Amino acid sequence: MEKIDCLSAEELDGVVLSYGEPSFRSRQIYNWLYRNNVSSFDIMTNIPSSLREKLENDYEFTYFEEVKRLTSSDGSIKFLFRLEDGEHIESVLLRDGDRISGCISTQVGCKMGCKFCATYAAVGFKRNLSVGEILQQVSALRKSAEELFDEKLLNLVFMGMGEPLDNIDNLKKALTILLDDNAFGFSHRKITVSTSGLIDGIKKFFAMETPVNLAVSINAPNQNIRQEIMPVSNKYPLNDLVNILKTVDIDKRKRITLEYVLLGGINDSLSHAKEFCQLIKGVKAKVNLISFNGSPFSKFKAPIEENVLQFQEYLINNNVTTFIRKKLGQDISGACGQLAAEYEGADS
Ligand code: SAH
Ligand code: SF4
Repeated sequence: MEKIDCLSAEELDGVVLSYGEPSFRSRQIYNWLYRNNVSSFDIMTNIPSSLREKLENDYEFTYFEEVKRLTSSDGSIKFLFRLEDGEHIESVLLRDGDRISGCISTQVGCKMGCKFCATYAAVGFKRNLSVGEILQQVSALRKSAEELFDEKLLNLVFMGMGEPLDNIDNLKKALTILLDDNAFGFSHRKITVSTSGLIDGIKKFFAMETPVNLAVSINAPNQNIRQEIMPVSNKYPLNDLVNILKTVDIDKRKRITLEYVLLGGINDSLSHAKEFCQLIKGVKAKVNLISFNGSPFSKFKAPIEENVLQFQEYLINNNVTTFIRKKLGQDISGACGQLAAEYEGADS
């Protein structure tokens, strides 16, 4: 049966029209779905029961069930959700002082095969998430932020499991609904999509009506090192990737975030910092340095702190705004690259 909780405003208009109902009903249903995040037609009390019955006959809600949650000592919470076909995904509510962000997955697993990433190592690639499954994560995190922290969820990062631009059609549709003031109502300045650098996807991303923020995982100072750790560079070489980032038309107030995972002894020396700095000249960007987070699946080492600070200092001294990403949720394997949807014990 078709799903109801992935329909755009226009699609819902079409459904309501096909039932011969007045168009304001469409707006009411849209409201129930994406403002109130209901998961049953019964709750739509201002909709006549005859219309609710028609909807019930033709549509269902996306199956989405929380099976586990883990709370970190820093207050971040990792959720494990079960999907209709029995697959699992993780999403994280990140808490950094007053700032609450939702870290959203876009695929079950990931195809890209980055050598340092637990998602790929543990899960491989299973499938894309549907629009409904992407939105359900946001609904669940938004509800939890209100219930647990009495805070509104205003920030979203698409940095969970999967490569968002490898599922770009569903991502784009979900973003349209997330940004719509009559639906979720997020600000485009407060949503960031992170990609491993799919050039075709980046072009489509910037062709969107309202592109949100883009983060690109560069992770290496040159093509040789990048090829070793990110197979995606075979198809999309680093120089082509950086060139496209120099030419895309971004909103005047926005900058691209360049992510750089520091792997001890691999890409974290001062000479790597110099090479990286040279490479990104001309990209309107800020840099986010991420210390490698270990997982049982990976042979890499975290960088020593001195190298992280030295890397940052070099970039800052060369006028590149550079942050060191805080490790939120590390003790619950909820930090970057640690999401692996532990299947064993998932139901306990
Ligand atoms: N697939 C997308 C988004 C999810 S990964 C991407 O690769 O950008 C989110 C971020 O976590 C990326 O910047 C990625 O490089 C980083 N990451 C992956 N594995 C990591 C690990 N083990 N330690 C630290 N960061 C990691
Ligand atoms: Fe996929 Fe991102 Fe992990 Fe690479 S780092 S395997 S692109 S989720």
